[in-house]
Amino acid sequence: MAEELERSQAEEPKDTKPGFMNPVAGFGVTFKAMFKKRLTEQYPEQQKTTAPRFHGRHQLNRHPDGLEKCVGCELCAWACPADAIYVEGADNTDEERYSPGERYGRVYQINYARCILCGLCIEACPTRALTMTNEFELADSSRANLIYTKEQLLAGLEEGMVDSPHAIYPGMDEQDYYRGLVTEAAPGTERQVAHSKGEVVQEADSTFGGTEPASGKVIGR
Ligand code: SF4
Ligand code: SF4
Repeated sequence: MAEELERSQAEEPKDTKPGFMNPVAGFGVTFKAMFKKRLTEQYPEQQKTTAPRFHGRHQLNRHPDGLEKCVGCELCAWACPADAIYVEGADNTDEERYSPGERYGRVYQINYARCILCGLCIEACPTRALTMTNEFELADSSRANLIYTKEQLLAGLEEGMVDSPHAIYPGMDEQDYYRGLVTEAAPGTERQVAHSKGEVVQEADSTFGGTEPASGKVIGR
């Protein structure tokens, strides 16, 4: 036992620096960092480009004629581990059609106070209605403002699109839309005026308590 102790003491490296150098040696890391290239990013003046498949704010996509791809199935909401998505589906009618099939997403909300941008919801979506963009500036001081509504998430109109609700392309069915046979709105297509579900501002108090301002979000169309 005594032999082992002697051996281990003999193997220990001896500190050859004089004692007064110890405090100075502690600044070694600081001095080294002073001469390294600085990594400060000038955000927000200079924005960094994100990776092409970055998980940013969500987007609800449209078909090429402007009808919505969301069918209100709620699979995205069920897939979400943070319970951040709220969907209410409704039936399309011939007078008021938002998507080519039977159903559409009447109410669609994502709560970015909960969302962890994991992307499981977009994997679950059967129609590729839900995708994620490269937008990452989502911070806000109000929890109510962090609940994005369908109107905020729905993609804008591109060339050839007419805003929903409007009729399905004549002679086409839902499957034709997914086969890519519809490439633009039919000539003469006009946006239908939704009488039964006009844009309604939510009047109810916020569920976050008395101090939170009531949400001004739109709950339907
Ligand atoms: S990205 Fe993840 S956390 Fe956010 S809504 Fe989708 S599934 Fe939920
Ligand atoms: S976004 Fe996709 S998964 Fe979610 S309700 Fe719409 S169609 Fe279904």
